[in-house]
Amino acid sequence: MGQHSIYGVTFECVQGDITGQDDMDAIVNAANAELRTGGGVAGAIHRAAGPGLEEECRSKAPIQPGEAVISGGHELPNRYVIHCLGPVYGIDEPADERLADCYRNAIALAEEKGLRSVAFPAISTGAFGYPMESAARVAMRTLVFLAKQGTSVEHIRFVLFSEEDRSIHDQALGAMVDRDV
Ligand code: ADP
Repeated sequence: MGQHSIYGVTFECVQGDITGQDDMDAIVNAANAELRTGGGVAGAIHRAAGPGLEEECRSKAPIQPGEAVISGGHELPNRYVIHCLGPVYGIDEPADERLADCYRNAIALAEEKGLRSVAFPAISTGAFGYPMESAARVAMRTLVFLAKQGTSVEHIRFVLFSEEDRSIHDQALGAMVDRDV
């Protein structure tokens, strides 16, 4: 499982838990519209961050599909959490555009804060039902395009729960290497 340097940005796909990424400036939450705790990624992040995270987020909610907001990391090892509301597959349309918006808006917030490293989960692929392969293609296409345009973010890590999901993301990333986007 390698790292790829694409247009000067280091991309990698690892198997693991999004709350265990101590070396990253920010982690991304697959949030719900209310920015509350919940299942999946949001539950894990809020549990690890402590109650201060929900409290800080209250005034920023609700958010729309494709939108992102940023908060402090509270008890997480990361300085920031970037909360993205992914599209519910089959409901928030066009799904690929709303999902791409999440990645674009997350990187824009990271740039505003001058962050160098961001770890993403596979937004929308759990409770929101987005098929893993298509979601991985949208994510990589969007992020590689941003890298090509030039970004101050130097390191992008995908953190996938299962080895199968890691491999799907690694393949989607590999398909972008050397492709003109
Ligand atoms: P969504 O509601 O956007 O679909 P979920 O949190 O339900 O978000 O799931 C998004 C993806 O994150 C799924 O593929 C799920 O398997 C994975 N996932 C769940 N918990 C974690 C975690 N702690 N770290 C990394 N990935 C996780």
